[in-house]
Amino acid sequence: MANIKGVAFIKGDYCPIAEAKISLLDWGFLRSDATYDVAHVWQGRFFRLDKHLDRFLASVARLRLTLPYDRVQLTDILAQCVRRAQLQDAYVEMICTRGISPTFSRDPRDAVNQFMAFAIPFGWIANEEQRRRGLHLMVSTVRRIPPESVDPKIKNYHWLDFMQAMFEAYDRNAENVVLLDANDNVTEGPGFNLFIVKDDDVITPASGVLEGITRRTVFDLCAELGVTTKQALLPVECLGSADEVFISSTAGGIMPVTRIDNVPIGNGQPGLLTQQLTDLYWQKHNDPDWTTPID
Ligand code: PLP
Repeated sequence: MANIKGVAFIKGDYCPIAEAKISLLDWGFLRSDATYDVAHVWQGRFFRLDKHLDRFLASVARLRLTLPYDRVQLTDILAQCVRRAQLQDAYVEMICTRGISPTFSRDPRDAVNQFMAFAIPFGWIANEEQRRRGLHLMVSTVRRIPPESVDPKIKNYHWLDFMQAMFEAYDRNAENVVLLDANDNVTEGPGFNLFIVKDDDVITPASGVLEGITRRTVFDLCAELGVTTKQALLPVECLGSADEVFISSTAGGIMPVTRIDNVPIGNGQPGLLTQQLTDLYWQKHNDPDWTTPID
């Protein structure tokens, strides 16, 4: 931990990431009563920061949290974290927790909400080899928390389903995992959305998932390429018959999947459309319309 290069903003001040601490009594920790968002910086530029801020502010409002900073101040704090950490490629997280009730009453309305943020080096869901030859996923027996209980559109730390599923995947020599809903439809994985390509259509689950900013970006890139996208129910059987499968995440962009439950997808190689979308995704990282430079 002490070796991670990074800077945090906490209790109104900046400090090295290793020194950033929250109270044991913060309900963000004790109750997972918090929301967060993660944006990234690539070669000194934020990618689609406005969209991350829109989602974060919407999640904060949905959870009836309040922030002491407006959008401009938030942007400045995030940029300061990156600048102070001297990072060109960064993973930038913003968090709002319920905080602590001064009397430690059980009433969440009494709590003083906390905002914190940090910038650390950019990290990938798939390593270099996995990105080149495609990830090997498994379909977990652990079901995703139902959206009627915890709305996945609010970016949240309710990750016990994902964590159990990851251990299950590692036990079976898979590299990552995708979860189904109670009706055997595909949802998402720990930190990513999933897409299939079938007969030239690009399809992703319509609901029961976080509306990823990279997911949104896939829709935008497909529109540029003239490729049809669909948001639909995705029964688990669709995975086996897909021409291509890929995942999308701020932590790595668009990444190919070439095996699911040990069965090759298509010809077992990363798909052509997946590659085309990946190339276009990274090209957009120099485009002033999609990025915000950090001085
Ligand atoms: N789904 C979940 C559960 C996530 O936690 C994330 C990102 O962390 C995603 C999907 C992908 O979202 P984004 O593209 O905004 O990173």
